[in-house]
Amino acid sequence: MAHLLIIGAGGVGSVVTQKCARMRDVFDTVVLASRTLEKCEKIAATADRPVAVEQVDADHADAVATLIDKHQSDLVINVALPYQDLSIMEGCLKAGAHYLDTANYEPPDEAKFCYKWQWAYHERFEKAGLMALLGCGFDPGATNVFTAYLRKHHFDRIETVDILDCNAGEHGHPFATNFNPEINIREITAPGRYREDGEWITTAPLAVHRPFDFPRIGEREMYLMYHEEMESLTRHFPEIRRMRFLMTFSQEYLTHLRVLQNVGMTRIDPVPFRGHDIVPLQFLKALLPDPATLGETYRGKTNIGVLARGTKEGQDRAVYVYNVCEHQHAYKDTRSQAVSYTTGVPAAIGAELMVRGIWRGMGVFNVEQMDPDPFMERMGPMGLPVEVAIPDKDLLAQ
Ligand code: NDP
Repeated sequence: MAHLLIIGAGGVGSVVTQKCARMRDVFDTVVLASRTLEKCEKIAATADRPVAVEQVDADHADAVATLIDKHQSDLVINVALPYQDLSIMEGCLKAGAHYLDTANYEPPDEAKFCYKWQWAYHERFEKAGLMALLGCGFDPGATNVFTAYLRKHHFDRIETVDILDCNAGEHGHPFATNFNPEINIREITAPGRYREDGEWITTAPLAVHRPFDFPRIGEREMYLMYHEEMESLTRHFPEIRRMRFLMTFSQEYLTHLRVLQNVGMTRIDPVPFRGHDIVPLQFLKALLPDPATLGETYRGKTNIGVLARGTKEGQDRAVYVYNVCEHQHAYKDTRSQAVSYTTGVPAAIGAELMVRGIWRGMGVFNVEQMDPDPFMERMGPMGLPVEVAIPDKDLLAQ
């Protein structure tokens, strides 16, 4: 049994709070802290048991440490923004709590996310006898587990991995992002990057695309992007010769994005405006629908998975491991949409495995370094059933 502190009262924080509050045999107490207290109160009111709420500015490690001390927290789940990763990790070290997050650190003034800053904490966590688990959402998170699972059970050798992310849902707004708009748009407008034969190959943003027939959804156009789990997966599974990440977008979404980019609304540098400095992307976030509010009207499904190709017992094979999540299922369970849900549920599963000591270690770890089986067993019962497909033979050639 453990005392849990969750930081970040957004769409993902809401799912994590509700799911963890239901785990009465794992967490004695659940505390939700965020920048805006009212958002914590609103989420706490949806939980199945009392959840304490706190206001915190998690940019300050001391404030995080004070909160951990006050609530004797054993584990902190960070579902604030990537900008807070390092200060929350510092807070955990100061006060002696384990750490879990769903997105790697990104400096606010540069759209450049990577693991080097957080991996640099390994020795300090190790010395403190603490565990930090990085990237335990869906992608990264479940996709890292799927890759480890494929390697353990389906292949003697994996040659290529494609991580595929399809949201075929309709929320009824002309343009909205499914998680924090600032983080989302920074990611999508960045150059694409994939790994081949030990090299990173850079492509123009969203320039490379191809169709894929997603099980239970149908054919959708996918666009090659850079995504953070490729950095850790290629480090931990160096034998994988090629790794790519591809995500689907509707033409409507891409048209809006192009216009916003062309007029400068996705810029992240401050622009002087009537005596104030305004960051256009932050202003755009204030105009767009809050992703946490999309759930009620969202219809349709997501399909996110890992398509691996390689060999087993001398035979070539391709295997696709994936989850299909209905937006309405997510709404029924936690009053959220499927993107917050598919991120929050794996975070709750990872937290449970850490508290039970099933996933353990001292230092900083990525999810694929843990045994995939206990995580896979929990996915279905927690609301995200996993399916395995042997795709068409043609895929072997692609
Ligand atoms: P939201 O913007 O909805 O929520 C973020 C929350 O963090 C907000 O409540 C915000 O407060 C709070 N916050 C921001 N800054 C601070 C601060 N300095 N101190 C305390 N609280 C702060 O984002 P999402 O819920 O959509 O996403 C949460 C995280 O999940 C992000 O890091 C995102 O990148 C990650 N993610 C990971 C995915 C995965 O599959 N691995 C997929 C989707 C998201 P306020 O309400 O006051 O603004």
